[in-house]
Amino acid sequence: MKILITGGAGFIGSNLVHRLCSNKENQIYILDNLCTGYLENIEDVIDNKNIHFINSDIRNTSLIEYIQKSKFDYIYNFASPASPKYYLKHPVETLETNILGIRNILMGIKGSSTRLLQASTSEVYGKAKEIPQKEEYWGNVNCTGVRACYDEGKRSAETLIFDYKRLYNVDAIVVRLFNTYGPRMNENDGRIISNFVNQAIKNENITIYGDGNQTRSFCYIDDTLDAILLLMMEKVNPQCPINIGNPIETKVIEVAQIIKKMTKSKSNIVYEKSMEDDPIRRKPDITEITKLLNWVPKVQLDDGLKRSIAYYQNKMLG
Ligand code: UDP
Repeated sequence: MKILITGGAGFIGSNLVHRLCSNKENQIYILDNLCTGYLENIEDVIDNKNIHFINSDIRNTSLIEYIQKSKFDYIYNFASPASPKYYLKHPVETLETNILGIRNILMGIKGSSTRLLQASTSEVYGKAKEIPQKEEYWGNVNCTGVRACYDEGKRSAETLIFDYKRLYNVDAIVVRLFNTYGPRMNENDGRIISNFVNQAIKNENITIYGDGNQTRSFCYIDDTLDAILLLMMEKVNPQCPINIGNPIETKVIEVAQIIKKMTKSKSNIVYEKSMEDDPIRRKPDITEITKLLNWVPKVQLDDGLKRSIAYYQNKMLG
């Protein structure tokens, strides 16, 4: 299979590269501008004969012709900053990447049989008023707020994909990924798990933004990839976006306490100003994907954290 993974040096993209490259029949093209991706995530496979790395930006319109000529079987679009720490600093780049990037990809695959998987996000639900979030919930997003560059970028991308599906019958699947964690998430990414684990293993303060009562539902990367690959490979054609996540909700303060205990850390847990427009509760309803593919996440938080802690400890030791 000929596969393009945009954002393939980032956290989820690089884990997908590793899953797919073990099959030598796959020719994998990784396109990344390395804004939040890192070559070290793919350095162990980059010289493989079936891996091809392209340092480029999906906003560039040359992508349209490149996709048209390349005749990929599958395209996975993971190209976007996803960490609030990064997108709050680079809002224009984030919005443009999401809107112009998917425009280029869709124009490239229009009229072809390429199957596209678009990584959307639970952020499309914004400060959700419905718990858990079902796919049909329209969300509650502040369209001029500081997180809007990401939320509205992903929402616009969904809009464009569904317009292309209706108008041109493109073969595209939209997945809404809830919080995902695990190895290859950069230690400076600014996300909760990477921050807390790295703070804990260095015995630095564990920083809670707000009162710590806000919740997230954490899905281990291997479970997320199982769901993504099943959706892409099975002959399913969902006519709505599909939630992928672990429905078990955990408070931020509990995450800090669990990590502190698991790492036997001497860190203090400290409280800082909460993030603007920070969603209070996030919990996916995964009825759709379970019905469609019989998928449910298997990795418990403790187990996933154990594996993540081992990853960051190894990295710290060099
Ligand atoms: N968070 C925190 N301390 C940190 C990093 C994150 O308290 O060092 C909080 C953050 O404010 C949010 C939750 O953890 O309420 C999840 O944040 P993350 O950036 O991982 O993901 P997202 O907000 O996109 O779900």
